[in-house]
Amino acid sequence: MQATAFRDNLLHLDTIQMTPFIRKPVGFGGVNEPPDVITVQSYLCLSGAVAPIAVDGIAGPKTIEAIRTFQARFMLAPDGRVDPGGRTIHELGQTARGREKTSAQSTPRDPYWDGDSSKWSEAKKLESLNSEFRDKIGAMLEELRLQQFRPKIFYAWRSVEVQEELFRKKRSKVRFSFHNAQKSDGSPHAYAVDVIDRRWAWGAGARAHGYWDALGDAAHYLGLYWGGDWVSFKDLAHVQFLQNSELRRIKRDSGLA
Ligand SMILES: [Zn+2]
Repeated sequence: MQATAFRDNLLHLDTIQMTPFIRKPVGFGGVNEPPDVITVQSYLCLSGAVAPIAVDGIAGPKTIEAIRTFQARFMLAPDGRVDPGGRTIHELGQTARGREKTSAQSTPRDPYWDGDSSKWSEAKKLESLNSEFRDKIGAMLEELRLQQFRPKIFYAWRSVEVQEELFRKKRSKVRFSFHNAQKSDGSPHAYAVDVIDRRWAWGAGARAHGYWDALGDAAHYLGLYWGGDWVSFKDLAHVQFLQNSELRRIKRDSGLA
């Protein structure tokens, strides 16, 4: 009875903790105080990562097996034990929260995508793009290399927070761009890249060596839109997959409208 009430409470997002609190170890070789066991059982159920188990405060074989199954997601040698403040309890909280938030829209982004996205490897920058666009950008880079340029993606995806900063510093005209597009889980899904030649970046050499023209030609050939064609503000390194008129739709699809 008490166990059921506790679980119902947990189903509200606000009460799902980042790292749920347990006093003593739970599971195989644990102290297994019933309130702690109930917490772990509840989060195992909420995680959606294991078959539902009884939330009864007893750390029996099914509970321990469920802990091991859950741990197998991130541990090479699951030990069936959940320690206070340890990895497993933290993962339980994260997984339960992620699941609840996905159904309620705004999810915290996977930490994999944290950090300065202009410093990511080229592979990771490409990974942050919409897949159709990614294929075209791959072809574009190849074409530029064939012409002896040394293209470098400076920005592929970037967060709305970074965009806001660029806007404040007047380095971007917009608060939301195709660089910021994301999936409903908050993971990157960009429709724009800024591609420079690593020898000249935005310097005069790029124009002198015909780099911007080559970039524009390659983009056009692939049916992409080039920022060098824009009338009011030429954004020479910028290439995007869609027309500017689609920006509002993409912002909405990104859950940011
Ligand atoms: Zn750009």
